[in-house]
Amino acid sequence: MVTLQAGDILFTLTRSARKSVGLTVKKDRTVHVRAPFWLSSSEVIRMVSGKASWIRSRQQALEKEQVLPPSGPELNRIKKQAELKFHTIASPWVEHFREQYNVSPKRWTIRNMNTRWGSCSKSTGRITLNLKLFYKPDACIEYIIVHELCHLIHPDHGKNFYALLQRELPDWKVRRKQLKA
Ligand SMILES: [Zn+2]
Repeated sequence: MVTLQAGDILFTLTRSARKSVGLTVKKDRTVHVRAPFWLSSSEVIRMVSGKASWIRSRQQALEKEQVLPPSGPELNRIKKQAELKFHTIASPWVEHFREQYNVSPKRWTIRNMNTRWGSCSKSTGRITLNLKLFYKPDACIEYIIVHELCHLIHPDHGKNFYALLQRELPDWKVRRKQLKA
């Protein structure tokens, strides 16, 4: 399996002894292509480019859905992917908050929530992230992570909290708007 790019569309290519090309957009919006051995990569890229508008509309529809699968292997797969994704985005920020403010979360929890994107308990040092963030753009996930990290310093949504958030993530309002969209 290799990862290729057709314009701004990233996709994985798996080759097998099949006769035709198969294209799938998964629930996490990733694009997967299966193609016969004899078809050149540039041909595959050309075909994917030709389907770009269909792929984009499919991805947009999935983004709007934001429906987690019921418990089972598919949900577990999403949880694993979410953990990895959130961890990757959070790591540099955790490091930064430790260096800059001498605070760091003691524990991260990811779970499916209906009313909030994240929460932070200053007393226990636990940050909880909503699994549904998985379907949101990285910029929004990053906003929630930084927001919760700020709560390690200021537990409420007071003036000082927003001053800190503003300093750390000057475009947080745009990201919050994107999250609500
Ligand atoms: Zn908050």
